[in-house]
Amino acid sequence: MNTFANDITHRARLLAVAQPESGKWLNALPTPSLGTLMSDESFRAAVGLRIGAPLCSPHLCTDCRLPVDKYGHHGLSCKKSAGRFIRHSALNEVIRRSLVTANIPAVLEPRGTSDVDERRPDGVSQLPWRNGRRLAWDVTCVDSFALSNVISSSTKAGEAARKAEEEKRRKYDYLANEYDFEPLAFETSGVTGPACLKFLRELGRRLKDATGEARSYEFLLQRLSIEIQRGNALSITSTVPRSDGLNAVYFVL
Ligand SMILES: [Zn+2]
Repeated sequence: MNTFANDITHRARLLAVAQPESGKWLNALPTPSLGTLMSDESFRAAVGLRIGAPLCSPHLCTDCRLPVDKYGHHGLSCKKSAGRFIRHSALNEVIRRSLVTANIPAVLEPRGTSDVDERRPDGVSQLPWRNGRRLAWDVTCVDSFALSNVISSSTKAGEAARKAEEEKRRKYDYLANEYDFEPLAFETSGVTGPACLKFLRELGRRLKDATGEARSYEFLLQRLSIEIQRGNALSITSTVPRSDGLNAVYFVL
């Protein structure tokens, strides 16, 4: 990474860590039964990404053979990274379960919203969400530090997620008549898009109404934040050649 790229990457990181939602995983009580216990690897990767520490030895990505520098950021945007798909599913499941807890049954991968799979939203509610209309949502987690996003991320935190939300709205415009569509864009740095944050506040309020737990919103953000960090760790470690195992990934902490 040249000096300029290094500077804007660190600027993007600093802007992101100043956003409260990016560090919610730090506030979670590590409890296995609640799914809030992070593995040592996930925790190390999350801390390293947050403070800008080198995470691994430079190597070639085992998935796509592109070079991975010492910060390991390539894994966060590698098109072949397994971590991205697992994180996408995990974030969706947190949203679905939270809706169910808030007495709004919801399903993932709904049939019948579109004949084209690529234009099917990630989930829909089975009861009305707002103004008599059901909820449809679609999750994405874009990499704050990818070449295509880092200029935006270094200008304003959450800018890459905001753009991703706009794209989602255009893509799912066909749902507008029947559903209340919410684009839920997160970033690998942990920040969220404005529409996503607004939706999460509303979901947190409804969770509080349903359960009486005043910290529902906080707990929701913590669970999502942890899933983002788990996905980051998996994305980074999956670039390491298997023959080297995780020994090839060293942490400077
Ligand atoms: Zn790769």
